[in-house]
Amino acid sequence: MAHPRRSNALNTISAHQRDTLGHLINGKSVAGEGEKVDVFEPATGEVLGQVRDATRAELNSAVAAAKNAFPGWAATPGDKRKKILHKVADLIESRAEQIAEVECLDAGQCWRFMSKAALRGAENFRFFADRAPSASDGQALPSSDHLNFTTRAPIGPVAVITPWNTPFMLSTWKIAPALAAGCTVVHKPAEWSPYSARLLAEIAHEAGLPAGVLNSVNGLGETTGKALTEHPDIKAVAFVGESKTGSAIMRQGSETLKRVHFELGGKNPVIVFDDADLDRALDAVIFMIYSLNGQRCTSSSRLLIQRSIYDAFLAKAIARVQKLKVGDPFDPATEVGPLIHPRHLQKVASYELVASRDGARVAAGGRLMPEAGKGYFYQPTLYADVEPSMRIAQEEVFGPVLAAIPFTDEADAIRKANDVPYGLAGYLWTNDLGRSLRVSQALEAGMIWVNSENVRHLPTPFGGVKASGIGRDGGDWSFEFFMETKNVALAYGSHSIQRMGL
Ligand code: NAD
Repeated sequence: MAHPRRSNALNTISAHQRDTLGHLINGKSVAGEGEKVDVFEPATGEVLGQVRDATRAELNSAVAAAKNAFPGWAATPGDKRKKILHKVADLIESRAEQIAEVECLDAGQCWRFMSKAALRGAENFRFFADRAPSASDGQALPSSDHLNFTTRAPIGPVAVITPWNTPFMLSTWKIAPALAAGCTVVHKPAEWSPYSARLLAEIAHEAGLPAGVLNSVNGLGETTGKALTEHPDIKAVAFVGESKTGSAIMRQGSETLKRVHFELGGKNPVIVFDDADLDRALDAVIFMIYSLNGQRCTSSSRLLIQRSIYDAFLAKAIARVQKLKVGDPFDPATEVGPLIHPRHLQKVASYELVASRDGARVAAGGRLMPEAGKGYFYQPTLYADVEPSMRIAQEEVFGPVLAAIPFTDEADAIRKANDVPYGLAGYLWTNDLGRSLRVSQALEAGMIWVNSENVRHLPTPFGGVKASGIGRDGGDWSFEFFMETKNVALAYGSHSIQRMGL
């Protein structure tokens, strides 16, 4: 694993940060005094460095910085916020390769997908920068005796808590709208891949973001994350991560009545009907589960195939899975990289036993893959003849593991697709227009793609139903979360007021 991009990434994480990454609070780097937590390189298993778990005092000072900076940032005219956020996007673009290299290093994501990911982060900033001047706009809702109008104001200092899978892109997704809305932020990135979040905070300051507007604290979920979500000065929590962590955050924030926005797990179906363009469907099926090392919330981890084409389509899928190139994430030819952490590898690998005990058939992969490298490699895996009740069809594995399930007709497909606790995304392949509309309506999911893989358009709502989340990101939905709406009623002076106590 001696790719030059890897050396670049190691250099980027400058020596002091690599030894121990502290926090960025009120515009200043804080070394931190809390416990050290190891950060591993997924491809090699080597320790890259440590992050500090923020002490309570450090966390409090980050929240205090966000609280103090809030009135000034909220009052900053939208066009000035727009300018700064565009500058953030400019700097992300100019450092896109560097960010992507860091993402490959500490998240184990493949270069072929990451080289564009930082640019998407810049797009997120540009999209919300352009909307900053109109973020507080409201509606006119006149009645016969009052002119009602609404305005929006930023809710206050907010917490952003992100997972480890595509850390940079996901951070920009939350932080850009929060800043555009006029909120100040305390961001806690995931402890397993913390470095690109630090780059983002540094870039934001370089772009002219005032001190205290974006603070980055490191640490464990159960300590730093918990304290952040319980803090009375934090007004809302934007969280991306596991469903059970979402429940914990809801409990933790209940005492202080936090507003929450949750983007959680998924067990997304891709339904392939026999009238579909099967070649395109196959491309999308393989891409949506094995890209990003299978660590993607919107991955289509359940492949529902119509019985009439089941054997033929499955055979083609198996052939493709067996040919996937697994290895060094920095190698542009690599299609599947390592899993993030030894604990996650253990979890993904544990499904071998679970699936075989339940009666699923291993059609491809299903084993650890030490021959791909010293890190946390797992064979791209496909289980066939899966029944919807099996754990492999019910639980989010969050790895390169696909479960193929046959179905008979439209009703059977809908029933099987909906038979999970999750409801993030659904993918549907058919050339029957009426069927595509009927099935889209019937699927229990926040997002449906018809004859497509996950292609994101920023003005559209992103989010899930059931155990996959609460709320939507994107477009104005993000501002609805990060802002409070106020209604002002102005009387025309003509309505009668009840008179009492005469
Ligand atoms: P996770 O829930 O374990 O951790 C996410 C973040 O929450 C981390 O920063 C972690 O430190 C923090 N955390 C953990 N416990 C906490 C607590 N009690 N209080 C506050 N913070 C806490 O998730 P993960 O393993 O990092 O990420 C994988 C999960 O994320 C998968 O379930 C995946 O589907 C989901 N995900 C969802 C989306 C989406 O948009 N729906 C996107 C990406 C990932």
